[in-house]
Amino acid sequence: MRVVRTVADLRRTLEPDEPGRVVGLVPTMGAYHEGHLSLFRAARAECGLVVASLFVNPAQFGPGDDPEAYPRNEAADLERTAAAGVDVLFAPSVDELYPPGFQTWVEVEELSRPLEGEHRPGHFRGVATICLKLFNLVHPQLAYFGLKDAQQAAVVLQLVRDLNLELRVRLLPTVRDADGLALSSRNVFLSQQERTLALALPRALAAGAAADREGSDPVAAARAALNGLAPDYLATLDVDGRRVLAGAVRIGKTRLIDNVLLEGDLA
Ligand code: AMP
Repeated sequence: MRVVRTVADLRRTLEPDEPGRVVGLVPTMGAYHEGHLSLFRAARAECGLVVASLFVNPAQFGPGDDPEAYPRNEAADLERTAAAGVDVLFAPSVDELYPPGFQTWVEVEELSRPLEGEHRPGHFRGVATICLKLFNLVHPQLAYFGLKDAQQAAVVLQLVRDLNLELRVRLLPTVRDADGLALSSRNVFLSQQERTLALALPRALAAGAAADREGSDPVAAARAALNGLAPDYLATLDVDGRRVLAGAVRIGKTRLIDNVLLEGDLA
């Protein structure tokens, strides 16, 4: 695996573009867990060249959410990407991607407004901009994202459609711990007691999905099953024709998001 830190080195590494070679990109912020590894493995299974990016994107952090406090473990991440068969790991500095004078932003307007967008102003502008930059740098035919971040997936799919980007987005299912908690880099911040409280979120979403199957309101059923947790939101969301029940809760200082698919599939 080649670790690349600069745009110039990335361009050199990816050239020449071999005809017929399928390039897959997996954008990440690092602190890898099985969720990330599932994306690397999916990319490895269908691409000739697998590029992963490891970049804690400051532009997608809102006020009061410090990118410096985001979990980082680069040494372990390098080992895990290499073991998962990633060919090129692009791990640039902030200045490399946002040099002084940077001022061009991409906004997926409507989809970015509610839910996460309401609670994290500017978040999806940061996401859309970094994704477009990475797509332009790597020129992947396939880009891999987790449905764990369902609204992000919806925003990226819309970006690809609206700007006529020549790539396909693959969405992969959420990987969970045995107790049902969705894996997240931020789970390391939870104390044992907070982790137990956090289980109310996947359980409430499962209750919502069960209600939906029986023709009842999934949001009301999920809210009733939240075990007293006050969510930032619980809502259904369209992800490119799929219907998802999504929620966000704060447990102590940690904010967790999760969702379940109500209708549609990922293939
Ligand atoms: P992050 O490093 O948190 O920005 O996530 C990078 C990619 O991994 C995104 O496409 C996420 O949706 C995906 N991801 C994060 N957690 C999970 C999970 N538990 N299962 C599947 N994919 C995930």
